[in-house]
Amino acid sequence: MISVKEAKAMIASVPKTQLGFFPTPFYRLNRLSDMFGVNMWIKRDDFTGSNLFGGNKTRKLEFLIGKALAEGAECVITYGATQSNHAMQTIWAATKNGIRPVVYLAAVVPPDSSDIRANLLLDRLFEAEIHIVDLKEGENFEQAEYRSFEMGKEHIARLEAEGTKCSEIPMGGANECGSLGYLNAMIELAEQMEAEEIGFEHLYHSSGSGGTAAGIMAGRRLMGLDMKVHSVTAMDVGDGNGYAKRAAELANGALKLIGSSDTVDASEFIIDQNHYAPGYECPSKDATEAIRLLAKNEGILTDPVYSGKAFAGMLHDIRSGAVAQGSNVLFVHTGGATALFAEKEILGNLI
Ligand SMILES: *Cc1c(COP(=O)(O)O)cnc(C)c1O
Repeated sequence: MISVKEAKAMIASVPKTQLGFFPTPFYRLNRLSDMFGVNMWIKRDDFTGSNLFGGNKTRKLEFLIGKALAEGAECVITYGATQSNHAMQTIWAATKNGIRPVVYLAAVVPPDSSDIRANLLLDRLFEAEIHIVDLKEGENFEQAEYRSFEMGKEHIARLEAEGTKCSEIPMGGANECGSLGYLNAMIELAEQMEAEEIGFEHLYHSSGSGGTAAGIMAGRRLMGLDMKVHSVTAMDVGDGNGYAKRAAELANGALKLIGSSDTVDASEFIIDQNHYAPGYECPSKDATEAIRLLAKNEGILTDPVYSGKAFAGMLHDIRSGAVAQGSNVLFVHTGGATALFAEKEILGNLI
């Protein structure tokens, strides 16, 4: 276990560009705490900046774009769904640094070209080069995504052959470098916890590519925080053990990048697969209820794809008693509220 000051010095050794406004707000949700009989706190990473539509990817991108800049990249290529928060944040983060963004987006929910909405609308506004990859007959999201990766790699090969230096960012920014974003967030959180003199038994967050979970677990180890971290998945991630193994590799890679000899084991991850149903970008009754509850009692907006489902997972565990009454519980709000302005298929019957 090391001090906040020592941890900050370690992370200062890696290339980073400033994108957001930190620390993000951290406070107690008074009304929901009273309603549920726990001490419920929130870390507002929906407010990372640098515009209203920040979120967890902004933290990862500080390191990913930092690396691209250090390597002299003129173009970044990344992937996601058409309403990807990651793609949208990558686009503005690259643009703001004078790097040209190219995105390959799999159309899980096909956009209506006469009524472009939410993140895809922002991607257009930022004038990114957008390639929509429509799902072929009988193809699922993963297969279309795999095809988009191949198209992106061909694109990179073409640009590099012309002498344009490219930086490829994986879907969700989930590599060792991107995982530094949440390692850094945990240093920030440790400092805020010290100031508020509070510790937590549980932390809940939404999990997709696994890069956020990796960074949180790496930072938890580095800072000697012993809360249980619940990674509530936004999609079917298949075998939870395989997912945890991959996330542990990312966590250990991130720790190594800052010169730490700490390690985390896959068995320490708690992968909660009980709340993504009926599927990625498909609304659920529990998430709809959770979004309404948080909006009506605390004035906070969450989304039907990620943060709403994670919040529903946390409420489920509080109601079932898995989180004991009187516990200190932290929700890390990863953002995503632009989805409230997305297609009806994504939104469901929220209103
Ligand atoms: C991408 C995303 C997540 C999941 O983060 P990963 O690092 O991909 O696991 C959670 N919430 C929101 C709003 C996201 O955009």
